[in-house]
Amino acid sequence: MKILKNYLGNLEISFQKRKQKMHRYDRNILIKEIGEEGQKKLLASKVLICGCGGLGSTVIANLASCGIGTIGLVDDDVIEISNLNRQYIHKFSEIGRIKVESAKDWINEFNPDIKVNIYNLRLDEKNYQEIVKDYDLIVDCFDSFSSKFLLNDIAVLTGKPLIYGGVTAFCGQIMTILPNKSACLRCIIPEAELLADVVKGIASPAVTTIASLQSMEVLKIILGEGELLTDNLLTFNGLTMDFNKLKISRSDSCPACGEF
Ligand SMILES: [Zn+2]
Repeated sequence: MKILKNYLGNLEISFQKRKQKMHRYDRNILIKEIGEEGQKKLLASKVLICGCGGLGSTVIANLASCGIGTIGLVDDDVIEISNLNRQYIHKFSEIGRIKVESAKDWINEFNPDIKVNIYNLRLDEKNYQEIVKDYDLIVDCFDSFSSKFLLNDIAVLTGKPLIYGGVTAFCGQIMTILPNKSACLRCIIPEAELLADVVKGIASPAVTTIASLQSMEVLKIILGEGELLTDNLLTFNGLTMDFNKLKISRSDSCPACGEF
């Protein structure tokens, strides 16, 4: 009798815990396109965020808020004081600390239900397969042309959906890539290596805007709702508040996904 009582007691505790966990997402669940089923999909999903800087800060905050169950973080940098005009998940007191560790602590403190995997390394041709294979999709929060195009090639090779985002000053752009189905970055700029990686000025509201749009695409892919920004480059100009969609097509001669 005592055993049965304990068993029922434990069952009640775990039920209450599950209820409390879902209660956190009440305002998600009230959205028609999410509901309880959609929330379960979000909790079961695995997203790899490449870059824990400006774009990464907002993508991390958005995805942790929405309840993406597993988040992978890739970055090989440490926090510098010049990052803090836009990389708000990192604190002044953490200058010199490894970014993926600081980002993991932020997520754990904000939403302890999320599993966080960290990769304090530079993604390259040798290590990408082992990392990328465990995730449903990739978000490009890198800050250099070379790393963005490497990520594009990795997405094409692995078939993982990629959400590209880029920001300069008050402007930015975003595109979703479904490898071998929609245009990739090299369909637009085949020889990205010709572009120089220079340090650019970036205004925080511009980077949070683009990163929020990237996060929206993540939700839509996981939920299977809405229209994705595939074969379209969305550009944003914060000075004029103009959004424009530029139609992009796959290129036969694309060095990444061509000859289809
Ligand atoms: Zn392509």
